[in-house]
Amino acid sequence: MPELPEVETVRRGLAPYVEGARIERVILNRPDLRFPFPAGFAEALMGTTITLADRRAKYLLFRLSSGATWLSHLGMTGSYRFEDFKFKEPSRYYEPDEDRKHDHLVLELDHPEHGKLRLIYNDARRFGFVDLFTEESESAYLKGLGPEPLSNAFNAVEMAERFKGKKAPMKAALLDQRVVAGLGNIYVSEALHRAHIRPDVAAARLVLRSGAPSRRLEDLADGVRTVLTEAIEAGGSTLRDFRAADGTSGYFQHRFAVYDREGEPCPTPLCRGTIKRIVQSGRSSFFCPTCQH
Ligand code: ZN
Repeated sequence: MPELPEVETVRRGLAPYVEGARIERVILNRPDLRFPFPAGFAEALMGTTITLADRRAKYLLFRLSSGATWLSHLGMTGSYRFEDFKFKEPSRYYEPDEDRKHDHLVLELDHPEHGKLRLIYNDARRFGFVDLFTEESESAYLKGLGPEPLSNAFNAVEMAERFKGKKAPMKAALLDQRVVAGLGNIYVSEALHRAHIRPDVAAARLVLRSGAPSRRLEDLADGVRTVLTEAIEAGGSTLRDFRAADGTSGYFQHRFAVYDREGEPCPTPLCRGTIKRIVQSGRSSFFCPTCQH
């Protein structure tokens, strides 16, 4: 699954080519992705201009001149590419499948600078989906989402409110999309390592009796921001090199400190610990038992 930094990388890659582009034609090559295309989806997009390529959590949001928003989730293997046209910047976390039978959605665009472009959504496993809405409150996917981790709305004080009295382990508390939007399994492990907090410690332990955040919770808020920011920066500068080495995946694996590194030495300076893997709610957590407590 792409996480927030991968989706943000896709957004940044697409923005210069789709913002300002008029959607001239929409071709649906099948009736559904993970879910059926919304009724009237193609008709609603045609003739409008994409005013902004936006993002909320792991959702791409294409804002349209009609006032509607076209939401796109990449699922596991969803990718965008332009036909006969190379992006100047990396645009995807996943190398697109060039097999045309997985080209499910095609948009013919007319961009004031780049001219006619064919934007193609390819998704071999079809876990991706789209939605269309005018008000965010209409979208089942956006309703109830917590703050964006890179916005000012995400901070230790807000986290303390959520974590107060919570016996749930840190890992589960951070995966709760009402606490922070868009954080998934990989970057939760990374953020907890950065803040030197074990994934199995109770969330409430990081809240002071007064209800204020502890210093450690402040470190965690910083850790979340830092790992996401670094991953986004890596996506912008090194994704291409990584893809050349391994054409099938654009995850920023080379940047991970603990994720999928069981048995390897801990990268924390001066720490001599070894990365350990535990399973929480059926999913792997990676941490260093020496410097995370
Ligand atoms: Zn360590």
